[in-house]
Amino acid sequence: MNASLHSRDADIAEVAIVTGGARGIGFGIAQALARQSRRIALFDLDRAALDQASAELAASGVEVIGLPVDVTNGGFVNQAVDTVIERFGRVDILVNNAGIVRDKRITKMSDEDWDIVIGVNLKSHFLCCRAVLPHMSTARYGRIVNIASRAWLGGVGQSNYSTSKGGVVSLTRSLALEWASAGVTVNAVAPGIVDTPLFRTFDAALQERLLKSVPAQRIGTPDDIAQAVSFFAQREASYITGQTLYVCGGRSLSSPSV
Ligand code: NAD
Repeated sequence: MNASLHSRDADIAEVAIVTGGARGIGFGIAQALARQSRRIALFDLDRAALDQASAELAASGVEVIGLPVDVTNGGFVNQAVDTVIERFGRVDILVNNAGIVRDKRITKMSDEDWDIVIGVNLKSHFLCCRAVLPHMSTARYGRIVNIASRAWLGGVGQSNYSTSKGGVVSLTRSLALEWASAGVTVNAVAPGIVDTPLFRTFDAALQERLLKSVPAQRIGTPDDIAQAVSFFAQREASYITGQTLYVCGGRSLSSPSV
């Protein structure tokens, strides 16, 4: 009986939320999840990018809603998840991807530089997980994928960013333990250097230095990251939880810092 329930459930198009899904890695993830017939909800601050991303997905036949949400605000996150449930009736996948950098050595780092990076990169994961887990738990099914970074290993001028991403790895492990018996897996993907608007905010010299440090000798693409997210997000990955997968062209093996 359980098996037939499971397969009937799997016939209904799954619903995936992608935070920071309007551009860069998040949009690549949304596109990849949509290719497997999922309905998509994008949560993002940037309304113009959100409209463009939603229109692009809709034009390719995807059922999509783009919600302008600041994922550092618990009230807004709860409202947005309620909207997804009202519209689609379920949430199967959450990808916590929104993230920012404010790189500075610690003596130059303001309180605001610290708080905003921890807020967007780490607290938002807590808020979004807290909002979706009751729904996943009731359904006895869920896939959460958190976007960390190879930089959780440490980086000069990145104490705020590295700490936020180290927190993501720890949060992933704790929530994996907490929700394993409810049919929910929680995993993390740790990208290396990926060609996105965020990467292009770095000055040219830093971009070149970073590129030279990649054993694979090329920059990553949003789709490289999306492939790993899709792997964790599939129903068949039910026995994999609490793991962090590097997708960085080998850089985690050879380069401890920028
Ligand atoms: P990006 O800047 O290109 O896109 C990030 C998206 O998040 C944007 O659409 C932005 O509007 C949104 N966002 C920012 N703050 C938000 C908030 N408070 N609420 C809602 N949305 C918000 O960045 P990216 O390079 O695509 O990075 C995506 C993720 O990948 C981040 O978590 C980043 O730390 C991680 N990452 C990126 C790289 C890289 O080289 N690009 C490497 C390792 C990890």
